[in-house]
Amino acid sequence: MLRTALPGPRSRRLQQRRDAALPHGLGVTLPVFVDRAGGGVLVDVDGNHLIDLASGIAVTSVGASAPAVVSRVREQAGRFTHTCFLVTEYDGYVEVAERLNALTPGDHPKRTALFSTGAEAVENAVKIARAATGRPGVVVFDHAYHGRSMMTLAMTAKEVPYKSGFGPFPGEVHRAPYAYPLRWPGGPGDCAEQALAALRELLDRVGADTVAALVVEPLQGEGGFVVPAPGFLPGLERIAREHGIVLVADEVQAGMGRTGTLFACEHEGIVPDLVCTAKALGGGLPLAAVTGRAELMDAVGPGGLGGTYAGNPVACAAALGVLEMLADGTLLQRARRIEGIVRDRLEPLADELVTVAEVRGRGAMMAVEFVRPHSPDPDPDPDTNPDPDPDPDLARAVAARCHAEGVVTLVCGTYGNVVRLLPPLVIPEDLLREGLDVLVAAIRSAS
Ligand code: PMP
Repeated sequence: MLRTALPGPRSRRLQQRRDAALPHGLGVTLPVFVDRAGGGVLVDVDGNHLIDLASGIAVTSVGASAPAVVSRVREQAGRFTHTCFLVTEYDGYVEVAERLNALTPGDHPKRTALFSTGAEAVENAVKIARAATGRPGVVVFDHAYHGRSMMTLAMTAKEVPYKSGFGPFPGEVHRAPYAYPLRWPGGPGDCAEQALAALRELLDRVGADTVAALVVEPLQGEGGFVVPAPGFLPGLERIAREHGIVLVADEVQAGMGRTGTLFACEHEGIVPDLVCTAKALGGGLPLAAVTGRAELMDAVGPGGLGGTYAGNPVACAAALGVLEMLADGTLLQRARRIEGIVRDRLEPLADELVTVAEVRGRGAMMAVEFVRPHSPDPDPDPDTNPDPDPDPDLARAVAARCHAEGVVTLVCGTYGNVVRLLPPLVIPEDLLREGLDVLVAAIRSAS
């Protein structure tokens, strides 16, 4: 429900102040200022009600003001806001760690260390893997996104805007192809097998015994919501085991219920050695974690892990609210239901429009990849997959149209040609359907 054109006059005034006070390097998807939010709705300072299909980039999965989170945050903030867990302790940290140890895949003994951001969790997973193996190398994938700190930028694939101008980056980072079915040169059929063969070749080249960690998003986020070809993740697990490489699952975006299981790894039953979580874990407060095999986690000497704010008590209280809400499985079911609704509404477009290459994702992590129609090849080679020409302009136009109508969607993908949907798991169905109607109309008109 919109009262003004977006952005409204109050947002525009605030935007002017922002522009004068903040650096240009801080981008913005939709320049409206939010007054309150919850239940899949963002209310801006001009009284416009926006449909939230972004969840603050996969953070507010249980809602932006869920009572189970808000009441715990209030209660904790009223008692104390900070001690630094490395100075004096509090039970919320231990309880979050115990829960994550129990919930992450695998029933081996585990430990959890808490941090504040996803990038910090991934960096610390690398530190732990290096300390445990005594090896320097890190293998990551095409289209990967792991954060904006120097090490995680080295691990992130996309150059512009994340990396350009910021190098040199830390070394010992090797990149292998991700099993991206739509864009696999040999076609989706052999995608997993060929991607695993390429990884083996890379390990032969760099020396598998120099590699500490294999870091993978079990469903890629910023890279385009790429669901890896079936068999790829189990193959990575096998290869990592074979060579004593620590398998790190970056579940920062896909984890904590987003894909309809608590962790995206569970879709293929793999058991990573270390799991990085963040985003939805803190229900909107900054909290991240590395959870993993006790013997790996304990390889770091005393004082080697931590940080001033790492595992902040208010963020831990919020996380306990999130974990309570996820506990009975209702929200996981909701995520799967959201997938069904999104597929029913969007998949017909893939048949109808040549510009819609694929509707993909899992649970409440769904996306549409846009391509430019190309003239039919008069002499097609049956053994190669014509790489569909990405259409970032179309993705941008679709998102802009949604934004103008008050539906918050995000663009992602190495080529910027994917529109992604990350609704809160608690979004009412009618609101989701309303948002999808706007998206479908936007796709039709922009195509
Ligand atoms: N890993 C993945 C898979 C992510 O999607 C992100 C954030 N988009 C990060 C790491 C970095 O998280 P943060 O922004 O909290 O540092």
